[in-house]
This record gives sequence, structure tokens and C-alpha cells, in this order.
Amino acid sequence: MSDVGAIVKPTFDAMKLKAEFPILARTVHGNVPLVYLDNAATSQKPRAVIDAITKYYECSNANVHRGGHALGAEATALYEDARSIVASFIGAQPNEIIFTRGTTESINLVAASWSSMMGETLKGCTIVVTEMEHHANIVPWQMACEKTGAVLKVIRVHDDGTLDMEHARELINDTTAFVSVVHVSNTLGVENDVRTICALARSVGALSLVDGAQSIVHHAINVTSLGCDFFVFSGHKLYAPTGIGVLFGRANVLESLPPYQGGGSMILDVTFERTTYNDVPVRFEAGTPNMEGAVGLAAAIRWFTALDLEALRVHEAELSERLLRDLNTIDGMRVFGPQTLHAGIASFVIDGMHAHDLGTLLDEQGVAIRTGHHCTMPLMKRFGVTSTARASIAAYTTHDDLDVLSAALLRSVRLLR
Ligand SMILES: *Cc1c(COP(=O)(O)O)cnc(C)c1O
Repeated sequence: MSDVGAIVKPTFDAMKLKAEFPILARTVHGNVPLVYLDNAATSQKPRAVIDAITKYYECSNANVHRGGHALGAEATALYEDARSIVASFIGAQPNEIIFTRGTTESINLVAASWSSMMGETLKGCTIVVTEMEHHANIVPWQMACEKTGAVLKVIRVHDDGTLDMEHARELINDTTAFVSVVHVSNTLGVENDVRTICALARSVGALSLVDGAQSIVHHAINVTSLGCDFFVFSGHKLYAPTGIGVLFGRANVLESLPPYQGGGSMILDVTFERTTYNDVPVRFEAGTPNMEGAVGLAAAIRWFTALDLEALRVHEAELSERLLRDLNTIDGMRVFGPQTLHAGIASFVIDGMHAHDLGTLLDEQGVAIRTGHHCTMPLMKRFGVTSTARASIAAYTTHDDLDVLSAALLRSVRLLR
């Protein structure tokens, strides 16, 4: 092949990157080399993140926002720097970023605070989600409905796993008060046109929330161009520690919301007669926050954005295609979702085989995948299964990893049949 005029694809050295993740060097089950393909559940952490957390405890740990001494000031500066880093990562302002425990708490915060503000005015109004939501984007809204008399409506998923946008246009109407949708499905890997959905919500005067738990890892996110009122994600799927997550809310919307929890930090003045609340965002961060988590998340975003992201996207797209191709060569294979790009996530079942048995056999061969309902029981029901096997990639996934997966799958099929 001639190089002249060829488009040079950026190359991404995933093998080199892998060396930055200490855990990926370990073995399992005696001495089997680990291949970790459960990244949609949680990602592993690079040395840069582990070191940042250690350094925080060795050098700067103190409670934040309480002042009075050097360490307190340093810890506060690190915590607030983390807020700024998160804000610029998604195109927001620092006062629009609330630190939470994760995606789940972020959605609960919005659902609880907003529904308590709206109260009975929501009676007969609709809250719209999709059939492919994670339980974290279903249950908090059911709780809000129970409290207010609002009604939950569900946008259907086509047989190929894509969202029925006609149905979305039908359901998002004058009665709609809130629309909450997943950006990239953690089960199917399918990406939804959330920009259009948020525009539909806005056109009927409804608020919108985008669950970005998966998209934050594989897409450049700009909350302004998405047009959402809220955007949520967890640190732990983005190479950061567990127990830290993000709620982005548009400044004027956050200003209008009542507190979610009461306690220290979120107040300006407290007497037994009356308490005045602090400004956004600390109004929503009652108590001592997860400082090490914020520091770790900032380190993860710094580490991640220093990668060649264009080359990474090409690498991940190649691996996604390859993963689907490999899976489809296996006899009796059924891959859920569209037969195109899957954002590095593929859910599948094999005829005559229980997903859990398959998972166990793969595990014995060193391959970690997930089996189960992936916290999307309604979606499982939609496709007439109770569980699937799910393989999901990350920046450190290599073609060698997929070779091991393919070989292990073939071996498992032989053993189980
Ligand atoms: C992981 C995930 C969640 C829940 O995230 P937590 O970190 O468990 O709070 C919600 N939605 C999607 C799409 C996810 O992938």
C-alpha cells in the first residue's frame, strides 16, 4: 500500500498506558494473567491518581472550608481546584459543580430537591425516562412520583437497541415537567441523541437531566452544547476513586432548588428558630465532603486529558468494532444493541448457555467480564432475558486483551456445550 495521500490515523499505545495501572500487572487464580474487561462497572486507577491521593494524605489533609490553619487552607484550595478542573472538563462554571458520592446520589439529589420544591403542583404531570435507564435513573423518579402524584412515562427502545425518537416526540409534551435520559447505555453501549431530547424538553418548558456515567469516559462533553439542565457522572468509571461523583446543574436552576441534606457547610447562619442556607454549590454539600475523592478525581481528569484523546477515540472505535466482529463469529451468539459502534460496551448471550456459567469459565481463564442485569432490569425484560454477559473496554485495553477474550470464549463454548 502506498503512503502517498493516505490518511494517517493517530496511533495510541495502549500497551504503554497499561503499565501505568499497577493492578493490571497482577495475576488471578494461581498464575493466570488478568484481562480486565469490566470497565463499564468500574475502571482501574493509574499510578498518577493513586499517588495524588497518597500525597494528599501525606502533605495536605485537613477539613475544608473551616480555615484557621495552613493545612486547612491547602486542603480547601485543592478541593476547590478540583471543582474548577471538573467544570472546565465539561464546559461549565465552578459554581455549577456539586460533588456527590456518584451518579446515583447526583440523580437522587435532583429528584428529591426538585420534587420537594414542586410538591403537589406535579400532580398529573409527567416525568419522562427511557426503557434503557440504569436503576439509578428510574427509582429516584418513582420516589418523586409517589411523593407528588406525577406520572412516570417511558420512551421505548427499538428491537435494535436504539431509542424510539418518534415515541420521545410523542411523550415529551405539555404535561411533561422533567426529562431524564441516559447518554450512553451501560448495557447496550448505544448512544442516544440527548441533544435533541434536551431541546424537546426545553421546548415544552421541562427540565432535563443527562446520565453521563458512561459517556464521560468515551466522549468529549460540553454541557452547554448538549443543552441539558443537569449532567451527572461518577468518578470511578473515569479512572478516579469511588465515592466521588459530579452533579452539574445550570446556575439559575441550582439557585432555585432547596437543599437536599442539612448540616455543616451548607448553612450561613443557624439559630433554633431559623437557618439561612449557604450559596450554591456548597448549599448542596452538607457535612465534610470527600476531599481525597475530589483530589483523586482532579488527578484523573488531568491524567486523562493529557492523553492523545483523538488517538484514543480511534483506538476505542477500532476495539469496539473488533469486539463485535469477534463476538459475532461465535456460534449461537446474540449481541444486543445495534451492529455498529458500541462505545466499547457489548452485551451478549450464547444459545444454551447461562451468562453466569460463561462468566465463571471466563474468570477461570483470567478474563473479567460482567454477567447479570447490569442494573437495567426493565431493559432485560424488553429483550426477554434475565441476564447477559457484558464485555467493556477502557483506554488501557489492547488487541491482545481481545485475543485472550476470543480464545477464552471459544474454549468456554466447547466446555459448556
Ligand atoms: C454506573 C452507572 C450508574 C450508577 O453509577 P454509580 O457510580 O453506581 O452511582 C448510572 N447510570 C449509568 C449509565 C451507569 O453506567
